[in-house]
Amino acid sequence: MVKAMSYGSGSFEIANVLQFHHVDYLAVAYSDERMELRKNGITLPIMVMNPELMNFELMMRHKLEPEIYNFRQLNQLSEMLKKHTGDPFRIHLKLDTGMHRLGFEESEINELVVRLTNNKNLRIQSIFSHLAASDEAEHDGFTNLQVQKFKTMSDQVMKNFTYSIPRHILNSSGILRFSEAQFEMVRLGIGLYGIAATANEQNQLEQVATLKTTISQIKNVPSNETIGYSRKGKVKRDTIVATIAIGYADGIRRRLSNGVGKMLVNGKLAPIVGNVCMDMCMLDITDIPAREGDEVIVFGSDYPVTEMAKSVGTIPYEILTSVSQRVKRVYFHE
Ligand SMILES: *Cc1c(COP(=O)(O)O)cnc(C)c1O
Repeated sequence: MVKAMSYGSGSFEIANVLQFHHVDYLAVAYSDERMELRKNGITLPIMVMNPELMNFELMMRHKLEPEIYNFRQLNQLSEMLKKHTGDPFRIHLKLDTGMHRLGFEESEINELVVRLTNNKNLRIQSIFSHLAASDEAEHDGFTNLQVQKFKTMSDQVMKNFTYSIPRHILNSSGILRFSEAQFEMVRLGIGLYGIAATANEQNQLEQVATLKTTISQIKNVPSNETIGYSRKGKVKRDTIVATIAIGYADGIRRRLSNGVGKMLVNGKLAPIVGNVCMDMCMLDITDIPAREGDEVIVFGSDYPVTEMAKSVGTIPYEILTSVSQRVKRVYFHE
């Protein structure tokens, strides 16, 4: 799953490594993301999960393999393919087994089969569904039901076709926790970047991404002065403040202001003082020996992105994908 700039890590770079390692498929959310990969020489088949069914020739030319999740889409596509000759057009069927986001429902399977068996221009490249809570033990009963439902629904489709159709339902935490439901494929997302849902699983993974910046200036601020906009950062003691080169325009959300967020300076956690600015923010480093130019870790192996996410009540996915474009990505090859 290389959607959303490969979880903020860089679409092409990650896709290229995956291509090198012979993965079978890539998946993105929208067509534009796929165009970007094709333009840069990624030749792997790419599934598009939320495709805009635009110009047919364009889809064929770029080997678009859309996810088809309802009859509206299927009708549009069939209409476009009416005069089509040659190889059938490859689609991926999405079944709704309880997530209730996109997908055909159980009651629609019979009609779906009729429509597909009557259309020689379409080939089902895979059948899939998505788990709603594969990372949460309290919902394991529901997850097992989803898997069961998926088996039944997909069998209902598959028995009408002579060719074999791969199936997939597992995302990262599903891969870790429901290995018996791997079918023929899995959809690895956040796990690729070494991030797991629970501490136990995290022990088996290594986080690959670090977000870091440097200290631009260090100031000694006397007690009772304030720091930054709206004078929110009132200091109650003589304080050493480090102004660092990262702000909300880089993805450091303003919710982290005034002590909610922390960053690592020379191995110690320093709280943010005052409001986060657009391009900068300030840290209280009174108790941490540091010099201008020193490195500051926003998240990384010693301060997991999961921790940072927790402090603002969100999930690592949101943090990773909101690191903005202007933050330079540097890749290390082993
Ligand atoms: C994003 C996504 C995944 C990957 O999920 P992770 O939890 O990151 O592994 C898998 N399937 C679908 C349909 C998705 O949208």
